[in-house]
Amino acid sequence: MQEELLNSVIRITKTRDIDSLEYSLLSTIQEFIVCQSISVYKTISGNEPCNVERSLSLNVRDVGEYEWLDREVIDMPHRELSSCLQSACSITMQDPSGTERRWLPIVIHDTPVGAIEVECEGLDSAQQVMLNAFVRIYENYLTILRENERDKLTGLLNRQTFDKKLKQLLEKQMIEQNRSIRDGKDLRSQHQGATSWLAMIDIDHFKNVNDTYGHVCGDEVLLILAQRMQDFFRSTDLLFRFGGEEFVIVFEPVDYNSIKDKMSKFLNLVHQTQFPFVKQLTVSVGLARISPYDFPINVLENADKALYFAKEHGRDQVSFYEELVSRKQVTNHIESSDIDLF
Ligand code: GH3
Ligand code: MG
Ligand code: MG
Repeated sequence: MQEELLNSVIRITKTRDIDSLEYSLLSTIQEFIVCQSISVYKTISGNEPCNVERSLSLNVRDVGEYEWLDREVIDMPHRELSSCLQSACSITMQDPSGTERRWLPIVIHDTPVGAIEVECEGLDSAQQVMLNAFVRIYENYLTILRENERDKLTGLLNRQTFDKKLKQLLEKQMIEQNRSIRDGKDLRSQHQGATSWLAMIDIDHFKNVNDTYGHVCGDEVLLILAQRMQDFFRSTDLLFRFGGEEFVIVFEPVDYNSIKDKMSKFLNLVHQTQFPFVKQLTVSVGLARISPYDFPINVLENADKALYFAKEHGRDQVSFYEELVSRKQVTNHIESSDIDLF
């Protein structure tokens, strides 16, 4: 038993990314504690009224038969789950049939960021100690992984994680696409024209902010902009700080008109945001479509070309790479690599 326990801890801490960590945690809990379901919940920032998502869930259907459920936004979180997240205290509830539901908070730097929910037939004290210990190990390890994935100043994802996160997103979309085809659903009619998008955002004349008001003020501007972005975009969109005053967003599938509208609203939001000292701040944006078969480097190049175009044509605007290609205002990377080769 002790050896099994040690091995499970080794397995959890061997993981190098947060999604795999959730899988390891749930499989480990399921291995040591007889239960009907285990779920990871996360608080999500943003201005949507609901602010909890179920990140991963494991349902035990029968002996040795499991069902994994992927991410889902929870519109009406369970009252006990909300209390657990607000109070950062564990909560246990038993229904008349004897089924027990437990919510254990996950706290990082004194802030509850999520909870583990376990549904079972009742746990003895040894199992309770074990469950608690697994959740604490997960919490400690999650803290380290989160810090490694994030930019120190803004808390957004850092550039080093970009390739991995984009790959995961594309893989997830391929799986969903294949699942829909297998289930006989016509994805094209469900999401007509919807694709993922990558936006490269660069603050206009940011050097002036530093030169005029100092680096500390510049840092404050970056922080405020990052917070506005986190509140404005969906929790499922991936937000990166890519370099000094450059940000990248990877959007989940959405059609052209919606992304166009969203980005124009974002430009307005930046106009209306009050930054310290700086009277008016603007950003330029380059947008490019992402298809599941693209290499990250090519999508970045496309968005970068569109951004460059926006900078060259007055700043404070959004340029679409595909539009520029169709109007022959930029060359696409296949054409330009042809030129490079010959
Ligand atoms: P453009 O509109 O063409 O983008 O002009 P710009 O001035 O924004 O661009 P440029 O690349 O000339 O300058 C970017 C500036 O960003 C230079 C650098 O001092 C500043 N910067 C980079 N990283 C940081 C940071 O972490 N904090 C602060 N405060 N400034 C930074
Ligand atoms: Mg700039
Ligand atoms: Mg720049």
